[in-house]
Order: sequence, then C-alpha cells, then structure tokens
Amino acid sequence: MAKVVVNSVDKVYENGFKAVSSVSFVAEDKEFVILVGPSGCGKSTTLRMIAGLEEITDGDIFIADKLVNNIPPKDRDIAMVFQNYALYPHMTVYENMSFALKLRKTPKAEIDPIVQEAAKLLEIEDLLDRKPKQLSGGQRQRVALGRAIVRKPKVFLFDEPLSNLDAKLRVQMRAEITRLHRKLATTMIYVTHDQVEAMTMADKIVIMKDGFIHQIDTPLNVYNNPVNLFVAGFIGSPAINQFNGRIDEVNGSLSFITASFQVPIPPEFRTAIQSHIGKNVIMGLRPEDVYDAQYDSMAEIPVNITALCDVVEPMGNEYVVYLSTGDTTMIARLDPKKLPQVEQDLLISLDMKKVHFFDPETQDCLTHKKK
Ligand code: ATP
Repeated sequence: MAKVVVNSVDKVYENGFKAVSSVSFVAEDKEFVILVGPSGCGKSTTLRMIAGLEEITDGDIFIADKLVNNIPPKDRDIAMVFQNYALYPHMTVYENMSFALKLRKTPKAEIDPIVQEAAKLLEIEDLLDRKPKQLSGGQRQRVALGRAIVRKPKVFLFDEPLSNLDAKLRVQMRAEITRLHRKLATTMIYVTHDQVEAMTMADKIVIMKDGFIHQIDTPLNVYNNPVNLFVAGFIGSPAINQFNGRIDEVNGSLSFITASFQVPIPPEFRTAIQSHIGKNVIMGLRPEDVYDAQYDSMAEIPVNITALCDVVEPMGNEYVVYLSTGDTTMIARLDPKKLPQVEQDLLISLDMKKVHFFDPETQDCLTHKKK
C-alpha cells in the first residue's frame, strides 16, 4: 500500500513568499494524481515537498502511512522524473539505469535482470550502450523513466516530464506513461501546466492557483462540474465561452439577458441561481455546446440566436468558429457539414441544459453540484 496524504501543507520560502497555502489531498494506493495549474501556482513546490527536496513550513505529509516530514528524500521510497531528464552525461544508458541500484549495493547479478526488464518495458533494449547525447528527446525521457522504474519505488513523482518534447512525441509519451502506470500499478503524482495531460492521464486532478487548491475531482467531473470560473476556464480547449449578463424574471420565467441577446433559463437552474435574480452573472457555455441551428442539433435544450461569423478554422474533423453578437464574442466547435460563411450571420443554437452560472464577484459557480 502506498497512499500519499498531504495534510494542510504550507510553504513559505526564505524570502517570506508563501508559495503553497493549506494544501490537502490524497493520492490513494495505485492512483494517478495530477497537480495542474498555471505557472507559479505552487505545484512543483508541492511535489518537491513530497519528494523531500523542499522543507515543509507547516502541515504533514504521509507516504504509506508513515509521517515523512523529517525523512530525507533517499529514505522516502519515491522516485522522481524531472523535466530535464537529469541523466548523467558521461554514463551509458545502462549505467544511468543501474546507478541507483549500485549505490544501494545491489549485487551485479541482481541488477542486470532488473535493468533488462525495465529496458524491455520501455522498448530501449537497443540503446543500453549509448550515452545520453546520442539519444533523441523521447529516448532520453524513456531512460529517465527507466532509471525511476528500476528502483521499484512505492511512489513515482513526475515534474513536467514531457514539456521538453515536441507536440507529437508528447502525445505518444502521454499514452506510454498511462500504459506504464497500468503495468506497474504504482501510485503516481504528476505535475503539469498542460490541462490536456491532466485530462487524458489522471485518475484524479488537483487544480491549483496562487498556492491554493481550487478543485479535486476526476477529469470529467472537473470539466462538467467546475467549482468556479478559474477552473471552468483553465480546463478545456478552446476555453469555455463567458457571457456577461443579468438574470431577470418575467411572468414567472427566468431569462439571461446580455446587451445583445436574451435567452430563457431552464427551470431546473432556478434553485441554484435564486439568489442572483435581478443581478449580474456570468454565463459559461463550452464551445461544443454551441451548434449550427440548421442541422440536427444534439442540444438537449436548444435556444437559437443569431451571431456573426468572424473567423473559421477548418480542423478537418470540426470547424472552430469565432462568432460575435454585439460586443459579445464566442467560439463554437461545429460539425464540418457546411462551411459557415465568414462575415455572414449564422443561426446558432445554445444548449441551455449545459450552461453554468458564475457570480462575477466571487467567481464561484452557482450551478456547481456539490458531492
Ligand atoms: P511552473 O509551472 O512555472 O514550474 P509551479 O506551479 O510549479 O510553476 P512553483 O515552482 O512551485 O510553481 O513556484 C511557486 C511560486 O513560488 C512561484 O511564484 C515561484 O516564483 C515561487 N518560488 C519558487 N521557488 C522559490 C524560492 N526558492 N524562493 C522564493 N520563491 C520561490
């Protein structure tokens, strides 16, 4: 069992800067947890505290039920894979992979099968005699993974391991790490600023900003049920559309009214937004929930409005269309059925079943469903 518990952890650096505030989360045994957030949000600091590379100012960290606050990194039974690979340049791949075992005084005869097995798993058996400079970025990253695997740690920690790779290789390595996680069945904590990595790889996402955790949930729950505007905007690409407007009640029905359009709000949202009737709110709607009204719309509660088509990006599998109504802009991901005409009006359908409402002051999501 290798559960990791981070309990009310703070980090104040020597210069007095508080990089991490009251961070608490659990990585269950064998779980793949991703800490994600914009640059400077404190995710690397959190990971480094778990690794023991950074002192904890306040709070507790447990690895496999053992308090590790004052335990040095080498005794924490973790392996860390860094963004810059951190391979020893003068050693071969084999030597790089076996180094930690050698330090532990593992007998040579035992080291060899362990290295060979890891090399096979990562498909780098043919590279064992090479030096790091004779490898591609992707191969170096595999060696860095191999070096972590041979130590058979209780927990793997990854700090932006794919950020030095080109886009295509990143996609490939994403799938490889997911597969590796499945095969090794080990707890993994992974830091990235890339929301796509978080969405595609994680069992659970921890979303951070300015040193605080904003939301912890499965990728799909975070996507579909964001706790606030930051989370809604950070997860998803193109980003969620945001409309500034007001909720009004006319003859017992609620409407969302902007300077350029007015749409009825389904009754099912009434309880959640009751406190904001007559007040300004932000309505969020994801680009895939905006449809071309001419075609069979998948919208569950379609409401049509007219928008001007500004830019069309034909992606092959879809059109990403930039639209405007008055001074409101939005993005739609449309089926590539008929190319919308630029600078022409387009009747679009908003799926009002999928909208989220946010308080413009607190940025909290009024329609967030608590677990
Ligand atoms: P990135 O994606 O850019 O690596 P991050 O979310 O991992 O960002 P951290 O590296 O954890 O962020 O840094 C969090 C904050 O702490 C940042 O504002 C950073 O400038 C600050 N910070 C990091 N190391 C130190 C240090 N040694 N002394 C003072 N402040 C630091």
